[in-house]
Amino acid sequence: MINESTQSIQSLLKQMESYTKNTDLEIVRLAYDFADEAHKGQTRKSGEPYITHPLAAAHILADMRIDPIIITATLLHDVPEDTAITLEEIEENFGQEIRRLVEGITKLGKLKYRGVERYIENLRKMFVAMAEDIRVMIIKFADRIHNLTTLGALPPQKAYRIALESLEIYAPIAGRLGMDELKGELEDLSFQYVYPKEYQRIKQLRDNRILGREQYYQQIVDTTKKELEDAHIPVTSITGRNKRLYSFYQKLLKKDNEVHRVYDLMAIRIIVPTIGDCYATLGILHNYWKPMKGRIKDYISQQKPNGYRSLHTTVFGKDGDAIEFQIRTTEMDEEAHFGIAAHWHYDEKGVSIPRREVEWAKELAEIQKDILTKLSDLEEIKIDFLQTRIFVFTPKGDVIDLPEGATPVDFAYHIHTDIGNKCTGAIINDKMQSLDTELKNGDIVDITIDKNRKGPNPDWVHFVKTHTAKARIKTYQNKRKMPTWLKSVLPKK
Ligand code: MN
Repeated sequence: MINESTQSIQSLLKQMESYTKNTDLEIVRLAYDFADEAHKGQTRKSGEPYITHPLAAAHILADMRIDPIIITATLLHDVPEDTAITLEEIEENFGQEIRRLVEGITKLGKLKYRGVERYIENLRKMFVAMAEDIRVMIIKFADRIHNLTTLGALPPQKAYRIALESLEIYAPIAGRLGMDELKGELEDLSFQYVYPKEYQRIKQLRDNRILGREQYYQQIVDTTKKELEDAHIPVTSITGRNKRLYSFYQKLLKKDNEVHRVYDLMAIRIIVPTIGDCYATLGILHNYWKPMKGRIKDYISQQKPNGYRSLHTTVFGKDGDAIEFQIRTTEMDEEAHFGIAAHWHYDEKGVSIPRREVEWAKELAEIQKDILTKLSDLEEIKIDFLQTRIFVFTPKGDVIDLPEGATPVDFAYHIHTDIGNKCTGAIINDKMQSLDTELKNGDIVDITIDKNRKGPNPDWVHFVKTHTAKARIKTYQNKRKMPTWLKSVLPKK
């Protein structure tokens, strides 16, 4: 948690020195002085000097060991919008790269969650910014997280609006960019303002189930340690983690509020040196505890599209209680925390190594930009983009990312319009299934088509989930509609 009273430019530089090693941080100090001077006399709603805000946002990123360029831009991020200083002056003092980053943030503008129109407008802006430079989003997330921690100083209506926007726009995007830690933070900070009663209820529920059980969880951690030791598997760390409140709430909603059906209230995370150790660990756990059917997930051999890699399994403990394990290497763990930001993250050796292509994120941004210019219906955007996604596979192993509840017809249209129009059946995990079957995470889907098929069945409209499938089916129907008089005079086949 942020403790602002101890934050200063000195503490920021000290922390950055610890991970950037020999990098010259003079530009960071200059940016601070520049912003401090520019914001002079301005205060936050809480009464504190304005500079405390960019400084706190910079600290959030320094905690993530983010590179100095991004942190420099973070210190300057509110200068052009809130002071007389122009972007040109920023460029003169700090160069073109910093100017572009600050400009990106300025373009995103201030908080404006005011109904559907603005919501879509905000999403569109964000995708444009993402497509131009994904680093802008990293700064925006840090900015937002700090704003959320100080919501108490705002009038309730405004606090609600900012929290709602964070929950509905920022958190899902952080998730799509693989920044799980930031996503969880954004959600939990917003949750109490958007759904205050639910927040209290969930907090109570979680605490009731976990309090007094610390010893039980400790026992499981100890047993796991011993079993892995006996098997000579080197372990970097084993930690028990509470479920985040908002994600617990989401799970609970899906399980009709039946708490006993939410298994992973507590998850145990095992970090091991190599991928081989990950699989060996999974074997040891399954040998000791009985695994729960359908809960073993191998995101190492088939990573999620946002890059997430890990093995997950849920096992039955001694008293029949379910325990979730997440097994991964240090590298995978850091990626799970930082997602796309891992690209600008310094590792232990003090170097920033691009670990993952950022291309997919750009592609995602481009696609969403397209969709948004065509769509005006909020519900459809929510279904296609913001809802929980599932990941299924083609027989060749390509990952297809669909909204929850999607069917083989959605899958078929996602691959190609022609495949959708001509599909007749689906083989899911080697079994023949009907076209309205709900797909699940990890399913391997093979679509059978009939080349002579004339077009889609109009009834499919009732069960498909994606906007694409719906639109294609309707378009086809419209095209084929001909005047009744013409139909009646045509020869019957
Ligand atoms: Mn700001």
